[in-house]
Amino acid sequence: MTDKLSLKTPRGRTVAFPTGLFIDGKFSKSSDGTTLTSINPATGKPLGDVSAGTRADVDRAVEAARTAFDTVWGPNSTPDVRCRALNKWADLIEAHADELGELESLDNGKPVWMARDVDIMDSAGCLRYYAGLADKVEGKTIEQTEGQKLAFTRSEAIGVVGQIIPWNYPIQMFAWKVAPALAAGNTIVLKPAEQTPLSALRLAELSVEAGFPPGVINIVNGLGPIVGQAIAEHEGIDKVAFTGSTVTGKKVAVAAATSNLKRTTLELGGKSPAVVFEDADLEQAAHWVTNGILFNMGQDCAASSRLLVQKSIHDDFVARLVRNFEAHQIGDPFDDKTTQGPQVSEMQYKKILGLIQSGKEQGATVATGGDTVQFAAGHEYNGGYFVRPTIFTGCRKGMRIYDEEIFGPVLCVMAFDDEDDAVQRANDTTYGLGAGIFSENASRCMRMVHKLKAGTVWCNMYLALSNAVPFGGFRQSGYGRELGIEGLAAYVQTKAVHWNYGEKAVWPVTG
Ligand code: NAD
Repeated sequence: MTDKLSLKTPRGRTVAFPTGLFIDGKFSKSSDGTTLTSINPATGKPLGDVSAGTRADVDRAVEAARTAFDTVWGPNSTPDVRCRALNKWADLIEAHADELGELESLDNGKPVWMARDVDIMDSAGCLRYYAGLADKVEGKTIEQTEGQKLAFTRSEAIGVVGQIIPWNYPIQMFAWKVAPALAAGNTIVLKPAEQTPLSALRLAELSVEAGFPPGVINIVNGLGPIVGQAIAEHEGIDKVAFTGSTVTGKKVAVAAATSNLKRTTLELGGKSPAVVFEDADLEQAAHWVTNGILFNMGQDCAASSRLLVQKSIHDDFVARLVRNFEAHQIGDPFDDKTTQGPQVSEMQYKKILGLIQSGKEQGATVATGGDTVQFAAGHEYNGGYFVRPTIFTGCRKGMRIYDEEIFGPVLCVMAFDDEDDAVQRANDTTYGLGAGIFSENASRCMRMVHKLKAGTVWCNMYLALSNAVPFGGFRQSGYGRELGIEGLAAYVQTKAVHWNYGEKAVWPVTG
């Protein structure tokens, strides 16, 4: 393994970045020399090796983060310093957006335009949003009814936070995690997903240029059961924030609780419904639902993976979706006309194809798609992980495609009779991340908002998020919120102060 990796992109750009673990402001090899290989999902070919951490490396990162917290960050830094560093980092990310977009595309498979114009620009915005909140971490005074006493609260940084992120939006998930934590004064040990370890290393390099002191941000690439588990269990970490599957989220919660009872926030999976009524603007609804399930190759925790459509418009609406799905441009992630690249990994690709097969066997009807994408004979993309956008109609509870999170470009359609029936079907899942309502009847939309069990409800749109609006799950989609002011609250703890300005103590106290 070399200390620095240089990749030549299909656009002729050279993208170079360090390959080590980023600990205490420096890049270093892992304690036992272990590496992991990043694969280009468009071709199935390796891009290069980067260091994969061990428990000893996590210990080292936690020590660096603790020292930084106790000396240069947290209570030993000012909001102004934190604000400036975050804004500078955002500037650098924007200045390097083309390069980062191409790197992200090689590592993850998403189209370059999507990485650049959506993920990266939004990540810079997220850093700026929390930079602006760094000096708005406030407490309050609380009126006391007895004695000459003042009570007030302070919102203080929690300390060293562990952050474990997934592969679907590597840069954006990085930004959502680090921005509020740093603004509030915490120091960080972050683990990227093993499928997408590259962009975090370049972001770490840029963080040095932005002026973050050594130890404030530490990045430990590596395997989930090793580095992720070590973070969740670590006695020196005060809080863990996790995004990923519900199965792993439960392991993280158990490890956090049974070690040092560290605070935990979990952003987990979903099987989110889009509910389309006969009084909707059907053409608009079709576009939103298409985007809701196909954006990012269906690899979105809030993807509109279950379509509930009123019986009277079922066939018309499915026909509009089939038209949209078949117009999708699948292929070269470096072509700006491409709307769908490969799935992130061979494992995800095989999982999705297995679920598609189960849908066929369990009696659902393929309205479009249902297979892989074949390129011209000998084309290198035939080694990649491309899945044709798929619609299944006639879905019912008990089918794996309808019950399980697929995390791919697969839409499951079910018809409903009326509003009550729609609510029952929409809520008939263990998850509760997102839900969409499509209707021109505002009263109906409001009744649905009231009844749907989901952390985010979209009316006449889908999947749009804002850095200023909290995001997170109900039920087994997790707990805690990211983004918005609530996202900052997840990285502070309240200290109450009682202050005497005249009350006299009496001793011994008698009745
Ligand atoms: P995962 O939950 O296993 O991985 C997410 C992160 O957790 C990764 O960084 C991984 O290394 C880490 N991890 C794995 N095991 C761990 C452990 N024991 N302790 C601590 N951290 C650990 O998800 P995956 O295997 O990459 O994908 C599987 C499924 O998860 C997908 O099919 C999808 O359904 C879901 N998923 C959801 C999201 C989301 O945004 N909610 C993102 C990615 C994947």
